[in-house]
Amino acid sequence: MQRIEHIYINGEFVTPHGQEWFDLYNPSTEAVIGQVRLGDAEDAQRAIAAAQAAFPAWSRTTRAERIAALRRMHKAIAAREDELMEAILIEYGAPLVRGRWMATYPADVIAQAIETLESFVFEEQAGAAKVIHTPVGVAGLITPWNSDAGFICNKLATALAAGCTAVIKPSEMSAMQTQVVIEALHEAGLPPGVFNIVNGRGDVVGEEIARNPGVAKISFTGSSAVGQHLVVAGAATMKRVTLELGGKSPTVVLDDADFAAIMPLALQAGFLNSGQACIAGTRILVPRSRLTEFEQAAKAAISQIRSGDPRDADTDIGPMVSRKQWERVQDYIRLGQQEGATLLAGGEGRPEGMNTGWFVKPTIFTHANNQMRIAREEIFGPVLTIIPYDDEAEAIAIANDTRYGLSALVLGKNPETCERVARQIDSGRVLVNTQAHEPRAPFGGFKHSGLGREMGRWGIGAYLEPKTLVTNAS
Ligand code: NAD
Repeated sequence: MQRIEHIYINGEFVTPHGQEWFDLYNPSTEAVIGQVRLGDAEDAQRAIAAAQAAFPAWSRTTRAERIAALRRMHKAIAAREDELMEAILIEYGAPLVRGRWMATYPADVIAQAIETLESFVFEEQAGAAKVIHTPVGVAGLITPWNSDAGFICNKLATALAAGCTAVIKPSEMSAMQTQVVIEALHEAGLPPGVFNIVNGRGDVVGEEIARNPGVAKISFTGSSAVGQHLVVAGAATMKRVTLELGGKSPTVVLDDADFAAIMPLALQAGFLNSGQACIAGTRILVPRSRLTEFEQAAKAAISQIRSGDPRDADTDIGPMVSRKQWERVQDYIRLGQQEGATLLAGGEGRPEGMNTGWFVKPTIFTHANNQMRIAREEIFGPVLTIIPYDDEAEAIAIANDTRYGLSALVLGKNPETCERVARQIDSGRVLVNTQAHEPRAPFGGFKHSGLGREMGRWGIGAYLEPKTLVTNAS
């Protein structure tokens, strides 16, 4: 039983003022495996004060000094890969391949921030003016549980690269993963106060970050409801806000697609991260003329997908992160049937032979339409919905008939048709016949999927204010 007693403020592990202890679970066994002591509003205020005190010196550091600090962070995080992997397996339940990716990504994303910083343009000429891109101040970084270390490291490395200092509030459900990250970052030896990490509840620590005038900017990844609330809460102190929110991403299967060839991509996109992914391709749009053929191919492919013990190398889908999340997914599986969609595979309850753990059967609905709640709402579990379309124009209309717009996947043979369709989808990212992520490109959402962008130069730019300097030349 691990007890996490400290938060990290001003370069030190400190006992929180907050008194509440929060249980941590192994989602594969439902057992309590640890406890974390949560910070409160007073702890958040201390962390913000430390970040404010560190800001003047850090914002004046040179590019070379920031790169050196980020390199130390990279080395320290990379050295903890195996420890992080173990925390991911036990506390989150990611299957081995996904878990390994989640354990290496935090170091990778710091390396990507270094690469961007190396060539970032902090000063440029605009006519007679010099434009100086200036760090905005203390950044409040609020992250979810579905890739804890990756989100913390991405947001922190980007904020530091821009010259901001930071207060991080990770998900209270990921405290073991966060602890590995904090210990590594401590070893990196950054100046005290440059980053601070406060475990705590969203409506306590997160709320204090949102309303505190000492925080100039919020970068948030999480649900659209909390994101919307942060825009409102931050407005009183005119905070800059970047939001990475939910999705209901379309996978558009074109009528020339070779189903045997594209099926692995379509299912991987949908079941990514055990279905607990903002970018998951959960609406599969299929030409009506080939619907039966697609259903047969999907049913055969899904019968090979294993939901179970994340430590088993054959597992594709691990447990849901919590009982609440498991129940929510079960509710949607019931709802889909009540709405009149047909279960092609999966359904309610745990997979065959499993009596414990928050496991879900890989589930796919067909004969659905885009007005059903299973096609409109983010389920955040391994539940996909096949929606038929009659022609290309209707496929595009259905793809865009959603409040979200984070990611989309187009699958087909003819590259021109694929690109024509891709260009008409309202989404921050459209992938064509691939699942590859390009870290140099901006990442973020249209509509309710977010505000602003992360990654690459767009990511660093989101922590900067352009300052125009015009000098009398005479
Ligand atoms: P969530 O919105 O419940 O919580 C996210 C974070 O916000 C947590 O740290 C939480 O404690 C905090 N929080 C909650 N209430 C708050 C408040 N009132 N003020 C400030 N902070 C508050 O989301 P979650 O359940 O942890 O994560 C799942 C959601 O995240 C899904 O909707 C998913 O799509 C989204 N997500 C988006 C991306 C992306 O890049 N677009 C990536 C991963 C997850």
